[in-house]
Amino acid sequence: MIKLKGIAVSLGIGIGKAYRIGQEEVTVPKRKIGHEEISREIYRLEEALIETRREITSLQKKIFQELGFDHSKIFEAHVLVLEDRVLIEDIIQQIKNKKVNVEFAFWTSIKKYMDTLLKLEDDYLRERVNDIDDVARRVLRKLLKKEIVSLKDLKEKVIVVAHDLSPSQTASLPKGNILAFVTDVGGRTSHTAIIARSLGIPAVVGVEIGTKNIKPGEKLIVDGSKGVVVVHPTERILKEYQKKSQQLVKARKAFHIPKVYKAQTKDKKEVDVSGNIELPEELPLVREYGAEGIGLYRTEFVFLGRRDLPSEEEQYQAYVNVARRVKPHSVIIRTMDIGGDKFLSQPQVPKEMSPFLGWRAIRFCLAQPEIFKVQLRAILRAAAEGEMKIMFPMISGIEELRQAKALLEECKEELRREKKNFKADISVGTMIEVPSAAMCADELAKESDFFSIGTNDLIQYSLAVDRGNEKVAYLYEPGHPGVIRLLKHVIETAHKNKIWIGMCGEMAGEPLFAYLLLGMGLDEFSMSPPRVPKVKDMIRNVFFQDAQRAAEKAVTLSTAKEVEKFLQEELKRMLRNEYERIVLT
Ligand code: PEP
Ligand code: MG
Repeated sequence: MIKLKGIAVSLGIGIGKAYRIGQEEVTVPKRKIGHEEISREIYRLEEALIETRREITSLQKKIFQELGFDHSKIFEAHVLVLEDRVLIEDIIQQIKNKKVNVEFAFWTSIKKYMDTLLKLEDDYLRERVNDIDDVARRVLRKLLKKEIVSLKDLKEKVIVVAHDLSPSQTASLPKGNILAFVTDVGGRTSHTAIIARSLGIPAVVGVEIGTKNIKPGEKLIVDGSKGVVVVHPTERILKEYQKKSQQLVKARKAFHIPKVYKAQTKDKKEVDVSGNIELPEELPLVREYGAEGIGLYRTEFVFLGRRDLPSEEEQYQAYVNVARRVKPHSVIIRTMDIGGDKFLSQPQVPKEMSPFLGWRAIRFCLAQPEIFKVQLRAILRAAAEGEMKIMFPMISGIEELRQAKALLEECKEELRREKKNFKADISVGTMIEVPSAAMCADELAKESDFFSIGTNDLIQYSLAVDRGNEKVAYLYEPGHPGVIRLLKHVIETAHKNKIWIGMCGEMAGEPLFAYLLLGMGLDEFSMSPPRVPKVKDMIRNVFFQDAQRAAEKAVTLSTAKEVEKFLQEELKRMLRNEYERIVLT
């Protein structure tokens, strides 16, 4: 038995056989051809390209119906490869001049093409290598008359294991047959993670020592809540997880209460529980799990995976679509958080030594007002059609907030002059995710309508722990006294200034910490939608007064371990036999 540790990106437990995809080594035969065979080989190339194009178009349609426009757009890049005249000419020249078979000519040209892209500084183009590899394999299989090993034809359910999954692979997998995903690369916001979450399939990415130790057909357990993959489990472990998985399924069924029920404690303290989304395709899940609105809409996904910047109209359409669908509940839209681990192809940003401390989020936006204002205008217009609030990420002090607000005012003025419909009195929130912002909360609160704490970053910056680095992951502790004292300060300061305060970092979705935050007086909890029912159930089973007392005590403790142990004991006492279902599963 081996236990692999990775990043938990989509909740749930998957138990089944490993199915490896994407890394099959391709062996392409080389054959000398005679002069008379040249035209036949070129004809075969054209046929294969046409057939592949047909195959991709129908896949694109299917994805469009199942997952919507944003996911289906992924295939545009594939079609472009098939239509690339320079590439096609290169293959034809090889067939003609070197007198080699089409398969060999095709594979040699495509590899040259991919090698060139891999050497480029342009992130977008380098990322496209995956798409090219994907489409090239499709063409090659046609030429070699080998059928694509299609997961569609699988008779049994499997756990998909891959070094990486190209967007087209992930999107075209048949949901019904996938028990879980495991990949070597990727983070919480990688494409695999997003799709896994939107499909509700358990997933672990960024597996520390890689998936190379997993053989096809091997029994696996994937714990998407803890980020653990057990390879070849012992009978005892298997039984343990089977029990856990059954409990989870039972618990999920119990959680599926159709009507939205309030997040209210036994002594009638009510808070808001909302959902985080990256793409509009996740909206049905938000409703299904009973979240009341959107506490964080990560707009950077509107910008990623494309060569150009989305126009104001495109952005407006994307945002208004979300606003209308969530109405009458509210949507907190976060302006783009580019940089860190998410980069645009245009404008090109030079490589940085410490991207998380570099040109990211509001810093990037304030330096590029012509890009930022397009988004602000689109948001202001969309906000007129629903309940939309705006918030700025990575604010480190009052000057940045003032600059961002000044640009927002400029946009309002422009829209007014252009006689366009927009929401003039949109609420403006500040994300508290930089320690200096937490310490200067008093100044920021005076000029903000609300706060939303981004603990994913606040923890990484407070504890100096890279949130994506597995080696220091043990130091990433939400319960660290340094973190919870900072949270207490920010919540109290917000209330002193009479503004409401929420949290959209992952911490808000963990019942144990949600109990602490409830006691500290947090007003809104926003999380990935599948976490909503548990947090709501926790809140409905406790007394606010107890939570307040627990929070007062927790901040006096000296280590994260003590804090967690204390909260566990408290909640065990409060929840009794509901504890395991709500906190542990
Ligand atoms: C956070 O930092 O907690 C947050 C919600 O933002 P993101 O995860 O997108 O950085
Ligand atoms: Mg953040």
